[in-house]
Amino acid sequence: MKVLVINCGSSSLKYQLIDMRDEQVLAKGLVERIGLDGAFLTHYPYNSAKKVFRQDIPDHKCAIGLVIDALTASGHGVISSMDEINAVGHRVVHGAEKFKSSVLVTEEMLATMEECVELAPLHNPPNIMGIRACQGLMPGVPQVGVFDTAFHQTMPAYAFLYGLPYEAYERYGIRKYGFHGTSHRYVAEIAASMIGRPKEDIRIITCHLGNGASVAAVKFGRSIDTSMGFTPLEGLVMGTRCGDIDPAIPAFLMKKTGMDSSAVDSYLNKKSGLLGISGVSSDLRDIEEAAMAGNERAQIAIDIFAYNVRKYIGAYVAAMGGVDAIVFTAGVGENSIVMRAKICSGLEYLGLTIDPVFNNVRGQAQEISSVGSRVRVFVIPTNEELVIARDTRDIVEHL
Ligand code: AMP
Repeated sequence: MKVLVINCGSSSLKYQLIDMRDEQVLAKGLVERIGLDGAFLTHYPYNSAKKVFRQDIPDHKCAIGLVIDALTASGHGVISSMDEINAVGHRVVHGAEKFKSSVLVTEEMLATMEECVELAPLHNPPNIMGIRACQGLMPGVPQVGVFDTAFHQTMPAYAFLYGLPYEAYERYGIRKYGFHGTSHRYVAEIAASMIGRPKEDIRIITCHLGNGASVAAVKFGRSIDTSMGFTPLEGLVMGTRCGDIDPAIPAFLMKKTGMDSSAVDSYLNKKSGLLGISGVSSDLRDIEEAAMAGNERAQIAIDIFAYNVRKYIGAYVAAMGGVDAIVFTAGVGENSIVMRAKICSGLEYLGLTIDPVFNNVRGQAQEISSVGSRVRVFVIPTNEELVIARDTRDIVEHL
């Protein structure tokens, strides 16, 4: 079975075509600037050089049409016709309380997804557009939605409810949902297999540290808490997002500066975090370089990031009554040797030590804890596309 994995953003679309017999990625790529000037597709076939196509791409349907053309073209194509695509798996950001696992796309499912748009106005509409576009271009090919929020639907009410009047939850659905669920689920499963024990026996803290970042407490295979909340703004300080702040700050900012609610939203989501603190960049590589050159604000941004992750680890050790393993994943977690070491320093009281030699690794699965460390620590590259493809296969196989 060949599964096309699609991840639609508002003006971008990422794709991978995966042969499920051996889970080989036949091709992957990215369409950028959909609906804008200067749109282009970058296509990476497994067996030949990358290709870039520049042309007007007014909408997601046109983008998916181009992806299909690239996959089937003679020369850089990897399949001979569209009929070889047996199923399509879509990453969907928000499934609210409606979707607790991945599901087959039906009209009823799409109607339910529409109901979730209010909770993710920026993310869910392009996901729905992607699904509709595939229905138009590949009629009859089964499609599956895989939700970022689904893995965290096992959180108990005392973890997901805020200290707001209960009607905020009942009327408006205001609660913690959590995101990056596909990634937390994947790396927790790999960690259990690296430890060689069933996931139902172990307590894992998964740290997805990328431009967006979240930590999850995965107790006996189920997410029981996570740092992102009603939206992906809560939790850790991120590339450009502020993470946890005093909830009185937005109103104070509005009064002081005259910003309206959407300006404050943008201030907290796009101008804050590592970028806002350092004034250098949202990219940790730039910040690490600036800190090395003596930039004090870059250094404080690094210190804040590490301190936040360490605090969440401590909180989740308490939430789970202990921890057996900690996993680092995503751009920062997989690549920043310095950041991993900084986060772990001070956790020795848990019986956790990392080995600097083992920690000297980027982008590959490896245990980095010292021999004899009671808490095992791993670097595990995430692979959300593979999880989406596997879920899609598992659902489509049983049709
Ligand atoms: P992601 O959102 O998972 O793609 O992660 C992107 C982030 O990973 C970038 O913004 C960088 O901050 C970070 N990153 C990637 N490579 C490195 C590296 N070698 N050292 C430090 N940070 C890195």
